[in-house]
Amino acid sequence: MRFTIESQQLESDLVKRVEEMIEQSPSICYQCGKCSAGCPVHYLMDIPPNVVIRLLQLGQIDRVLESRTIWVCSSCSTCSTRCPKEFKIAECMDALRELALATGKDTPSEKDIKLFHQVFMSNMRMFGKVHEASIAGVYKLKSRHFFADVGAGIKMFLKGKIKLFPHRIKGVKEIRAMFEAAGYGRKEKEEPSTEDKEQEKLI
Ligand code: SF4
Ligand code: SF4
Repeated sequence: MRFTIESQQLESDLVKRVEEMIEQSPSICYQCGKCSAGCPVHYLMDIPPNVVIRLLQLGQIDRVLESRTIWVCSSCSTCSTRCPKEFKIAECMDALRELALATGKDTPSEKDIKLFHQVFMSNMRMFGKVHEASIAGVYKLKSRHFFADVGAGIKMFLKGKIKLFPHRIKGVKEIRAMFEAAGYGRKEKEEPSTEDKEQEKLI
């Protein structure tokens, strides 16, 4: 893979934002490639994880934000566990997803993954923990994949794995404060996002 780099790209405010979000600098990576070698979904990615980190080192963050890789990453943390430099690659992928959405630089493909990500994060912020039934409801309404995985959903419900009604944990304000401190989600005084409004309707 060959990239042309302009000197002004070596300094990037967005890379600094990633560093703030994960409290670590990509510069510690020495490109051993262990992260990519262990990634279970690397074959679906357009840029391998170690190259994502290399591009951040070179200030080429737009290429990363436009990539399929950040949406295909399943946050399994195998890469972070294997990294000899203890670089937080999985957290870095999380930060890149949020930045891609915040800056509008995300790829136009992978719409369903992005939608699921937004609904999941909104649900976590709303209740302080995941409520699967409202995630499935909002996701299906917005994606229009009404009948996908219905059989699995019914089986899980019958086995008591899916609760019908959500439960807000006591520390939900603290969870929201954590989201905001990490730069995720909207501020308390801002208008609720579309995902938040949809999930409020289901309560
Ligand atoms: S495993 Fe760590 S040091 Fe090695 S390439 Fe990946 S991020 Fe860099
Ligand atoms: S967290 Fe993402 S990049 Fe890292 S190993 Fe898992 S799927 Fe691959």
